[in-house]
Amino acid sequence: MATQYDYLVIGGGSGGIASANRAASYGARVAVIENDRLGGTCVNRGCVPKKIMWYASGYAEAFREAKDYGFETSKPGFNWGKLIERREAYIHRLNGIYETNLDKNKVDIISGMGAFVDANTVAVNGHNYSAKHILIATGGYPAVPEIEGAELGITSDGFFELTEQPKNVAVVGAGYIAVELAGMLQGMGSKVQLLVRRDSPLRNFDHTMVATLVTAIKDQGIDLVTQATPTKLSKNGASLSLELEDGRLLNDLDTVIWAIGRHPATQSLALSNADLNTDNRGFIETNEYQETSVKNIYAVGDITGRAALTPVAIAAGRRLSDRLFDNQSKAKLHYDTIPTVVFSHPPIGTVGLTEAEARKKYADDIKIYQSTFTPLRNGITNNKPKATFKLIVTGKNERVIGCHVIGEGADELLQGFAVAMKMGATKADFDNTVAIHPTAAEELVTLR
Ligand code: FAD
Ligand code: NDP
Repeated sequence: MATQYDYLVIGGGSGGIASANRAASYGARVAVIENDRLGGTCVNRGCVPKKIMWYASGYAEAFREAKDYGFETSKPGFNWGKLIERREAYIHRLNGIYETNLDKNKVDIISGMGAFVDANTVAVNGHNYSAKHILIATGGYPAVPEIEGAELGITSDGFFELTEQPKNVAVVGAGYIAVELAGMLQGMGSKVQLLVRRDSPLRNFDHTMVATLVTAIKDQGIDLVTQATPTKLSKNGASLSLELEDGRLLNDLDTVIWAIGRHPATQSLALSNADLNTDNRGFIETNEYQETSVKNIYAVGDITGRAALTPVAIAAGRRLSDRLFDNQSKAKLHYDTIPTVVFSHPPIGTVGLTEAEARKKYADDIKIYQSTFTPLRNGITNNKPKATFKLIVTGKNERVIGCHVIGEGADELLQGFAVAMKMGATKADFDNTVAIHPTAAEELVTLR
């Protein structure tokens, strides 16, 4: 294997692999350093296994509703072990596809932990590799609270290692992961308590979406425990007890999941050997071109602390390679108007400003169009989850600056509306688009 490259990429996850393949497509000599399975968090412990669990939970919901559609089914059995086996087999196939594609593109794979020797050299297992350009794409890992007994709990990584379905679970946290794991576990039949430090989860999301979500969470049977700050986790025989700051005690738990954010993975990198510093949260600071404070060292993805989403890491990594190896001197990722979905039950899709952000930026020069309804699918079911669609517009021409949707299909319908918003669509553009009937998405082009 060579020791001299044009481009060394530390981290074979979403951002690193995308950037490496793009650089190699321009003829650069590239190597990816990865100490784990290829694909990173998203493929192995994130988006992919999560979405499969979310689908599983959706099947459970469909079985429950099927009787309202005339199906005379008995309660179907559910084999957690079989689901996990098939999920992991699928992920192994993906790991192989990543390897094959890197090979096809003549990207070398160096197995092991990468650590800087100097600004142009990285050591892996005692061997030194040098490159003109080095990319840090090492992602992050889950945070665990600093409280007594925290090690008795698991994180999202541990969730994906569960070989048996937990029965009585406390999920601690208020972000994407907490909401998603709580929803899918409850959906599949676990009894879930979701503990948030304040009054609701997803505090940074549009408040109307959060209000609909909170109702849906409760209707789903999740016990939303608010103002809940854990102080101690202890084991009594086979069960766990979680103590809260105000003295409340949650007993008889078999699983406690910490979902309170993620830390940047920098410890193994020996950044000081490259004279590279982190910001006060431990992330690697980058400018608009993904450049760090050290010339020829770049960073993309979760390690930068900006919009921790797979497509963001991929897009930033590819544009960086376009710039470095294809003379596209202006290529960079614009971090505004990034669409995102929370895979809750039902999912939330959101792009642009929340109402609170819009008011802060445009004061009274905004208008809200909004609708809450029961989707047609649930017209004849006893279960009546609500969908809420909301557009925020500004100016005389009513440019759409926020689009927020909660309801079945929100995950799939949002992408096209994000394109429209990126192009500067106005409310009139939405209204001039003929609706597709009967769908939930048509609501967005018929809002009054
Ligand atoms: P990663 O994908 O984390 O890759 C970093 C890689 O670097 C890892 O493979 C790691 O082993 C390796 N590494 C670290 N240090 C070293 C070293 N010193 N030497 C060699 N290798 C090293 N995003 C979405 O867009 N949609 C979702 O639905 C979604 N769901 C998620 C669900 C969960 C439970 C989690 C945890 C995350 C989810 N995300 C989702 C976020 C998404 O996974 C990340 O934003 C994305 O993986 C970031 O890519 P990355 O390239 O920055 O880092
Ligand atoms: P987030 O940063 O999204 O949320 C964590 C939340 O937990 C905080 O906002 C905070 O909310 C709460 N919290 C923080 N510390 C504590 C504490 N000590 N005790 C109790 N609660 C605490 O982190 P996640 O781990 O959920 O996800 C990490 C990132 O991964 C996400 O931000 C997202 O970018 C990405 N992701 C994307 C997904 C998707 O696209 N569908 C799915 C999963 C992850 P508060 O201040 O309100 O208490």
